[in-house]
Amino acid sequence: MHISSALIVGGGIGGLTAGIALRRKGIPVEIIERDPDWSVYGVGIIQQLNVVRAMDQIGALKDFLSRSQGFDSTTIFAGPEGKQVAKFDTPRLAGPEYPSNVGIRRTELQKVLANKAAEVGAKVRLGLTVATMTEDGDGVDVTFSDGTAGRYDVVIGADGLFSQTRRTIFPDAPKPRYTGQWVWRYNLPRVPELDGIHVFAGPCNAGLVPMSADLMYMFLVTQEAENFKQPVAGAAEAMRTRAARMAPPQVAAQLVHMTDDAGVVGRPMEVILLEGEWHKGRVVLLGDAVHAATPHQGQGAGMAIEDALVLADELDAADTLEAAFTAYRTRRWPRVEQVAKTSLMIGDAQMGKIPPVDVGALTAKTLALVAQPI
Ligand SMILES: Cc1cc2nc3c(=O)[nH]c(=O)nc-3n(C[C@H](O)[C@H](O)[C@H](O)COP(=O)(O)OP(=O)(O)OC[C@H]3O[C@@H](n4cnc5c(N)ncnc54)[C@H](O)[C@@H]3O)c2cc1C
Repeated sequence: MHISSALIVGGGIGGLTAGIALRRKGIPVEIIERDPDWSVYGVGIIQQLNVVRAMDQIGALKDFLSRSQGFDSTTIFAGPEGKQVAKFDTPRLAGPEYPSNVGIRRTELQKVLANKAAEVGAKVRLGLTVATMTEDGDGVDVTFSDGTAGRYDVVIGADGLFSQTRRTIFPDAPKPRYTGQWVWRYNLPRVPELDGIHVFAGPCNAGLVPMSADLMYMFLVTQEAENFKQPVAGAAEAMRTRAARMAPPQVAAQLVHMTDDAGVVGRPMEVILLEGEWHKGRVVLLGDAVHAATPHQGQGAGMAIEDALVLADELDAADTLEAAFTAYRTRRWPRVEQVAKTSLMIGDAQMGKIPPVDVGALTAKTLALVAQPI
């Protein structure tokens, strides 16, 4: 199908990947991003095997690996003594010479994607959003918050959890929901024994993730009241206090380094999963705008990135937009549903809302699914 113009709303992980993937199919692309500074917080993100493969597919693997720390193994420790209970390697999907997974700072991931988007000719405009969107049979007329306007064959809403595009096309869709947990993250000097991701399971739910030869980050999952807020002042002490409860020695040893309030990034876990269609007319959604999961499986960004690749494939292959959007959603649903529902289940079990679950078996099932070709 010939597409002469695509507008992508949101210059985050999914929107940038969509811009790259569409340009690689020869489609002219404009990305708009609301944040004039295009800022991203500097903590880390786990990018698993399917993301490493995806970075290869968009031609960004070398840059991605040069800015991140690769690893193959995941080690699980349990209980207050931090006893190792499992260790496994995941496959190297991009080829035997490349690592299976990486840890990377979000700022570096954004540079990888923004550089590639610029290289392939995606136009990015910062500090604006959609004011109005009017669709007729042949296209979508869009006016922007800076007074400019444009007409597009396709509009892609990649504007995250609180998507304005979703609210516009599906005003009755469910709203994002707080699950009851927060994730706290803090960058730390890397410890020599960190050969991959180390996960500490209950009663302190935490993890250590390498991001470079000398940097790692700690994540900590806690249960917080619905209206809980953490101001910057006192954030380091708040994270230390929570981590110290029943901390295994590997976590406890790090607390002394957690002194900078501004270095703490704490966020509530909020979710949404659109079970129905992901498009209306010429407007389609991807990433957190349709399926924001809790980070228990480390796959939220991976799902947004894969959405972008599959959407570009289907737009290229199908004869009509309707067929492309339907095929896109059909291909994406099994793994998006697995990630969203499994992540939620693990969090609910951590909070005692449901009986304990076998996290190892659930994670193995997710990893086997996302290792399949997209
Ligand atoms: C605490 C936490 C930890 C996480 N850890 C991991 C992890 O380790 N691994 C992993 O894979 N995933 C993780 N995730 C999930 C991951 O961050 C998201 O799934 C991913 O960022 C989704 O990408 P996206 O492009 O859909 O949305 P976003 O990254 O949210 O990007 C949306 C973009 O749209 C812009 N925007 C919003 N509204 C508008 C508008 N109206 N107009 C224009 N622009 C707009 C925003 O400014 C933003 O740049 C985590 C999430 C959280 C909350």
